[in-house]
Amino acid sequence: MRTDSDWNQKGACRTADPDELFVEGAAQRRAKEICTGCPVRTECLAYALDHRIEYGVWGGMTERERRALLRRRTTVTSWWNLLETARTEHQQQARAAAAAQSQAA
Ligand code: SF4
Repeated sequence: MRTDSDWNQKGACRTADPDELFVEGAAQRRAKEICTGCPVRTECLAYALDHRIEYGVWGGMTERERRALLRRRTTVTSWWNLLETARTEHQQQARAAAAAQSQAA
């Protein structure tokens, strides 16, 4: 599994109090808001899923949400590869759509 070891230095939470992300109950919604728009959200989520991290909000998902995802997708061997591939494909499709739109204009 390939990982970008610098991703955790780029997180939106890097200046936040770590206790804000390792909370329970309703406080998790506030913690997830920190992840919204984080530039390394995909990397963070992939890391947490690949390493089966059981506590805290990672990549915008609570531990409960991650557990549910892991139960649904038991055949995934590398979340890093899966999410990185999905992101690349999405970016390629967005570029193709933008190119087609500019040609039509
Ligand atoms: S996704 Fe959330 S927990 Fe992960 S690095 Fe970004 S802000 Fe921090």
